[in-house]
Amino acid sequence: MAIATDTQLAQKASTEAAAEKKRWTLNDFDIGKPLGRGKFGHVYIAKEKRSNHIVALKVLFKSQLKQSQVEHQLRREVEIQSHLRHPNILRLYGYFYDQKRVYLILENAAKGELYKELQRCKYFSERRAATYIASLARALIYCHGKHVIHRDIKPENLLVGAQGDLKIADFGWSVHTFNRRQTMCGTLDYLPPEMVESAEHDASVDIWSLGILCYEFLYGIPPFEAKEHSDTYRRILLVDLKFPPKPVVSSAAKDLISQMLVRETSKRLPLHKLLEHPWIIQNADPSGVYKF
Ligand code: AMP
Repeated sequence: MAIATDTQLAQKASTEAAAEKKRWTLNDFDIGKPLGRGKFGHVYIAKEKRSNHIVALKVLFKSQLKQSQVEHQLRREVEIQSHLRHPNILRLYGYFYDQKRVYLILENAAKGELYKELQRCKYFSERRAATYIASLARALIYCHGKHVIHRDIKPENLLVGAQGDLKIADFGWSVHTFNRRQTMCGTLDYLPPEMVESAEHDASVDIWSLGILCYEFLYGIPPFEAKEHSDTYRRILLVDLKFPPKPVVSSAAKDLISQMLVRETSKRLPLHKLLEHPWIIQNADPSGVYKF
């Protein structure tokens, strides 16, 4: 085995640092077909010319970001997501900009949006739901370990990789925090009671949202859905949790959901305990991937 000298190691380290700091431009990429469009721009499949690496290039218009006053949110998203490395978190490799646009170089999630899969299937099998919930719990344990809370876990923010592996995609609402927070954010159906009340919240907001997601995976609709926003708020605050007779869902799954959707934040099932819950043990695929 060759042993690298200190000089070789130093050279390697500086090459890697240079690669990390590389200033990207549009010329570094061959742009392919559009993958989708979001509120602030478009996403294209692209190939990085030197490495032939396939990525998703998200193109955002500065004017629209300014108009909606989300530049700050985008900066935060880039800052947080670029430092996270987990198989179930979408990688953000880098970014660059020109006069009019900001470009995000993202991992390509070949199987697209989970939301569309859920719409197509209406609801998922327990095996599929448990596999997804376990992989998301592991990703959130990793985030929380880095003092990052996501705050916006919902099907629309989940993408699927080529192997069927789930990827948390949108860190637009996430925060890097050591303190309890007091801002209103997230989407109505997935909001925990403490955020409905604009009270302090911490990492346990992600446990609540994962409970909502588990319910939606199994029943096809979120648990506190209502016609009027005010009714959804009311049902969330009362934790008005009902399990319809159809589709048939095991009592173990209902038990897990009931332990996550708890009003008192400190009584929500911790994520490492979720991974030991009988429903997860019996249903989640040990590979962490649901192939479809
Ligand atoms: P967004 O602006 O993030 O909402 O993205 C718009 C659409 O582009 C999404 O709904 C996806 O269909 C697609 N998309 C975004 N990011 C990726 C990605 N990393 N890999 C594959 N498709 C993506």
